[in-house]
Amino acid sequence: MKKKKKPAEFETLRQENEPREESLSFEEMTLLRSGEDRSKLSPHDTSDRAHAVRFVRKNKLVTAAAIVIAIALLAGLIGGILFFVSWLDSRPSTADFTVILGEEKPYTIPYGDAVRGGILYVDMRRIAAYAGMTVGGSDTRMSFAAQGNTYLRFENDSEYAIINGDRVVLTAEPLDGGNAVPAKAIINASECLVPYSFFKKTVSVGLLFRLDRDTNTLQIKRATYALDGDEDNMVAADILFHSANFDIVPEVTEPPKYEYVYTIDMTPYLDSITTENLLLANKQNPLSEAYVPADLTELTCATASGRELYLCRDAATALHGLMEAMIADGITDAYITSAYRSYDRQYELFFTTYYNKEKAAHPEWTDEQIYAQVLTYSAYPGTSEHQTGLCVDFMTSTMHDLDNSFASTDAAAWLRENAYKFGFILRYPEDKVAITQYSYESWHYRFVGRDAASDIHFSQVCLEEYLSASAS
Ligand SMILES: [Zn+2]
Repeated sequence: MKKKKKPAEFETLRQENEPREESLSFEEMTLLRSGEDRSKLSPHDTSDRAHAVRFVRKNKLVTAAAIVIAIALLAGLIGGILFFVSWLDSRPSTADFTVILGEEKPYTIPYGDAVRGGILYVDMRRIAAYAGMTVGGSDTRMSFAAQGNTYLRFENDSEYAIINGDRVVLTAEPLDGGNAVPAKAIINASECLVPYSFFKKTVSVGLLFRLDRDTNTLQIKRATYALDGDEDNMVAADILFHSANFDIVPEVTEPPKYEYVYTIDMTPYLDSITTENLLLANKQNPLSEAYVPADLTELTCATASGRELYLCRDAATALHGLMEAMIADGITDAYITSAYRSYDRQYELFFTTYYNKEKAAHPEWTDEQIYAQVLTYSAYPGTSEHQTGLCVDFMTSTMHDLDNSFASTDAAAWLRENAYKFGFILRYPEDKVAITQYSYESWHYRFVGRDAASDIHFSQVCLEEYLSASAS
């Protein structure tokens, strides 16, 4: 860009103000002496006097400006400190979280474990234990059933959750505000961590929530009501889950893997037969003393001497379907000899019944020897799968004891061929003893749901192998 020519008027003015030779500044003299052009000098450096006046003025200005700047800086600093203090005060607490479930003893969780990526998580297993929900599942997938056939299902690291069969996107509201973000459940052997805000939205009725960010306290308790209007008779309200607060994402339907042919109409049983339950109970994964399935249902099929036996509802319904189909196929002498067995019953059998039996037979043995012997045929309390309420032992009228003479019966042959269609698997196969750590039990069948049972049946794996394969 070309420089604009200065107007003539300006040139004149400048010439008039041109300093005299004798009042040249030192710099000007130096430049002149060195033969340099005066036009190179700054127009501001005119005369020494003007220079001095300007210098004083300039200094006054500089002082004033410095004072103003200093005041401004000080004000800014004070403001900054005040802001920082108020920010510190209003900053969300990162103290440990205290969780209070109803009247239970509060427990604390380090902030970093409770809040991950700005999202507050709750352990569904602890809440379920408190609220009496039925828990089923594995290290990778967990279901929590409440009343009214409502349930939640989470899969480790999945962006979806299932609410009463509806697949919804798992989202979470950040603890300190902001829009909901995609989130995932974290499931391992001991916990099922789910975003608190998500869980809260799944609960239609039955639970009350209170989150206090000042003290980082989360309270969850069951809602109660006065039975028959009697204030002295407060009872816990049913807990119901709903998917109304979520967008439902239809499951991608895959073509069926297996074809199922039944000799009788299975319609009344299909819902239960196809309900998955992969709860694992073995020597490495014992159930707690407190574990009692919430929906135990009395068996109506043939039982030993007509005994009252119980299974979880879906397992019981699926078993009834299986027994009817077996009878329809002409096998009429099979019956159930054991089903759900409580922790207390396991305890009594192990420490009293079998202990006394061995003690009587071998009075010279130490307790250690006696227990070692009992362990060869009885599960240590908590490690029996019968506590899950998902498995049964079959016998036939030709058998005297529960043993592998069952393997050669027609009933056993029929079960080996057909049990998977009803969601049952042979739990302790002959070739899997090293993995299950239980001897071959041709009579012991476990309900897992039809899909898993079919996979296990056709790929000839045991439950432990199936679960570790689906976990990886
Ligand atoms: Zn058994």
